[in-house]
Amino acid sequence: MPVTAVVGAQWGDEGKGKITDYLAQHADVVIRYQGGSNAGHTVVNEHGTFKLHLVPSGVFNPNALCIVGPGTVVDLPALVEELAMLEKAGISTANVRVADRAHLVLPYHIALDRLDERERGRQKLGTTGRGVGPAYSDKVARHGIQVYEVRDERRFRERVAHELLTKNAILERFGDAPLDPTEVADQVLTAAARLGDRIVDTLPLVEDAVARDASVLLEGQLGAMRDLDWGIYPFVTSSNPLAGGAAVGAGIPPRYITRVIGVVKAYSTAVGEGPFPTELQGADADRLREHANEYGATTGRPRRVGWFDAVASRHAHRLNAFTEIAVTKLDMLGEYDLIPLCVAYEIDGRRTTDMPPTAILERARPCYDELAGWGCGLAGVTDRAGLPKNATAYLKRIEETVGAPIGMVGIGPERTATLL
Ligand code: GDP
Repeated sequence: MPVTAVVGAQWGDEGKGKITDYLAQHADVVIRYQGGSNAGHTVVNEHGTFKLHLVPSGVFNPNALCIVGPGTVVDLPALVEELAMLEKAGISTANVRVADRAHLVLPYHIALDRLDERERGRQKLGTTGRGVGPAYSDKVARHGIQVYEVRDERRFRERVAHELLTKNAILERFGDAPLDPTEVADQVLTAAARLGDRIVDTLPLVEDAVARDASVLLEGQLGAMRDLDWGIYPFVTSSNPLAGGAAVGAGIPPRYITRVIGVVKAYSTAVGEGPFPTELQGADADRLREHANEYGATTGRPRRVGWFDAVASRHAHRLNAFTEIAVTKLDMLGEYDLIPLCVAYEIDGRRTTDMPPTAILERARPCYDELAGWGCGLAGVTDRAGLPKNATAYLKRIEETVGAPIGMVGIGPERTATLL
């Protein structure tokens, strides 16, 4: 059985949760490899509708071990809340484990995230304010606190108090209230006690799964255009959603990842700031947003919407070598007579299919092919052969321009609305 990475191939929100939930029915282990509780992976299945922030989308399979991986940053109280939400809905979370090497998102990271966004003013990044960026900053700056450190209470309290010396100085300098070290530590230790022996060294578990040829799914957050190294810096996330990040973040040697699924929507959306060449404005944007219900899963913010951008997803393919693409939300384009698909950019009078760095991308004008729409919904379609001819032609154009074959097509939010 392969180790499969599920990777976003646009700006995020591509439907990775749905695809992971679908594949997780037959998975033994599902690992979230980066990001934090700023994610909002929507899963719609026989149990209901769920927005998962940190818990892997494999949690609905009672036989799958679900790991919050070492590459993530974990807000323990938020995780406890999420587990409680699932339990309340009748979903067992007994198989959820948290990597002891993951870094903690502490209350001061959340305070600093909000302060940073405020002080950036018009240059703000559009973060979700969950403290994820500051937690990764601390990790890289060697100020981070890892999850296992909660086990030594005295030392943990000292670490928090020490970190707060500088963090509080910054908060106060910008007019924000300082945080109390005891309260911060209490909050995290209470949550840690609730998690108990879920906090483990995940490497032996993953190593064992690979050795037994178990089916392992690696679930990414956000997408290639928000990758720290290859996305639209600085409007990126503070980790690597790419499949390369999956190996490190999950703790799997890269050569074991044999299947990489790039997830794309049939059009484009983005939450947060940064260049988005095919973005629609005004009434055109409202039409697509309303029809496709494009509001953020975590924040409820209206998503920016635009046409499919093959330059962006080809960029993702060049970095991930997708073995296949999963196209979601094809059902949302049924009402258009003509569907523009961006096949190249024009930048300063030159046509290109390469992804330029951010400030140059700001000047890119999309070059569109216009494809005929299919003018109907897709309810009741049960296989790819049953798709309207023009829908199949649209998918074929995506394959040609991105450069990878389409293995899955989503025609509804439910797990069952998936065509192989
Ligand atoms: P993720 O963060 O990549 O998991 O994506 P989100 O959950 O933020 O956004 C994807 C949205 O599209 C969710 O509301 C899903 O329920 C929905 N969705 C996923 N696939 C399909 C599909 O094929 N058709 C429709 N109509 N909705 C879908």
